[in-house]
Amino acid sequence: MPLFSPRRYQPPFYPTRRDESLPMRAFTSFERTVKGWLFGCRMCGNCILQETAFVCPMTCPKGLRNGLCGGATPDQCEVDPSRPCTWYVIYERAERMGRVDKLLEINAPIDGTRAGRETWLDMFNLWRERKQGPYPGDFLFNREKFNDEWDRFFYALRQPDWWQGDARYHPPAYQEPVSLLEANLRTGAFVTTGEIAPPLGASGDIILKKVGWLKDYVVAANFTDNASASARMNSMASSKICIDAGLEPVMQLQARDRSRVVIESDAMGAAGLGIRNILCLSGDHHRFGPAPMAKPDQFDMDAVQMLWMLRRMRDEGQYLDGRNIKNPPQFFLGAAASPFGAPPQYEAIRAEKKVNAGAQFIQTQPIFDYEGFVDWLEALDKRNLLGKVYILAGLIPLKSAAAAHFMADDVPGVVVPPEIVKRMDEAGDKEGQQEQGVAIALEMIEKLKNTPGINGMHMMAVHWEAIVPRLVEESGVPRPVVKSLEEASDSALAGEKPADVAQLA
Ligand code: SF4
Repeated sequence: MPLFSPRRYQPPFYPTRRDESLPMRAFTSFERTVKGWLFGCRMCGNCILQETAFVCPMTCPKGLRNGLCGGATPDQCEVDPSRPCTWYVIYERAERMGRVDKLLEINAPIDGTRAGRETWLDMFNLWRERKQGPYPGDFLFNREKFNDEWDRFFYALRQPDWWQGDARYHPPAYQEPVSLLEANLRTGAFVTTGEIAPPLGASGDIILKKVGWLKDYVVAANFTDNASASARMNSMASSKICIDAGLEPVMQLQARDRSRVVIESDAMGAAGLGIRNILCLSGDHHRFGPAPMAKPDQFDMDAVQMLWMLRRMRDEGQYLDGRNIKNPPQFFLGAAASPFGAPPQYEAIRAEKKVNAGAQFIQTQPIFDYEGFVDWLEALDKRNLLGKVYILAGLIPLKSAAAAHFMADDVPGVVVPPEIVKRMDEAGDKEGQQEQGVAIALEMIEKLKNTPGINGMHMMAVHWEAIVPRLVEESGVPRPVVKSLEEASDSALAGEKPADVAQLA
């Protein structure tokens, strides 16, 4: 067990080229041993210990460099229950050290050419070349100057020119809404989105059928991207079928299984097909998928990094490698949030990073515990997020008592209060349970409609999509207001803010 970090999940990297001299290889080996013993270091060559309370984030099984995943708990990592969650350790130590704001900087994905190589000599060389300190003398006689130079030196070290991450909010650099979802959210009306699971087979008929049920009731439909590490028709193809059937899609795009090159390429391909709404996710670990499991190191980026990269492709017209994009894509970028995954103050830090990186809307995990959800909203409000991002509260109508037990016991990051499970248990036969599920959903919609800071709901009635029209009608939430982008750009709604949050506090 390392002195300052949880045990690493993966072995350290080795250089892609072994062309170093023997003394340098011996030095690298020495550095690997010492840093492994201290930090569980994986020799990623892109050290961000300064930002993570001196706990190495690369010990996380997903290699997440910008915060925890939705399934983290205080007791254990969701991937390997024999170890603690690296990010819980980071948040707790950062709180103790008064370094929480350091966690807001958007950290770069690793540069593969640096992986496995020594960094101590590199660090010394950079310090010598810059000639800007920090100098030991200042540590003794001018601590303020030393601290300032220290921060600037380590920023230069950890933020390569091709990334330049920071802790600031980057609003979108365009005016007119790029999608119907964005246009409807700008009206200030309560907006409903739905979710359709892509089919297991090659036929798109089932998508056409479900789009037919939903299209007069929701503004857009999400298509999951091999959720739970289990293969289905891909989200991009499903989204295109949805567009052709007359409904706008939200294409979910997850980092798992994709290098940065494939993420850029898939996002650009989606834009070429007319897909505007992209929900950026890190993705479930392969451990949650069916056997045989893929090799474990399948994360090149995380959701925060995806948002940062796709926003820059759109607003700065550049690929990550610096090449210019002739016709930049138009994206309305979204992120997921897990109000019950970790304490609200930790989840709010993660949400702030996503919003700063480029998230314009958030869809949450399903809400059954309204009071817990309001705690999370208040934590977001404290971080001044509610005026910057549209929030769609997740909702799952429970179809059976078994579904309620499954959500309560087996889905990480979801809280189902015991009274809800009890109501479902006591609802009688199949039909009675479905009616009880509808009643619970309608009660929750009523609360959500009247919650300041909420812009709508995301209804995840997966495998029960036919219930969505009834829920929309009986709850009285509006149907889509803006039906074409021309209509939106003609209106005065093009610049409205995400939410009226004045009443929340
Ligand atoms: S629970 Fe998630 S964030 Fe925490 S160490 Fe495991 S994979 Fe990483």
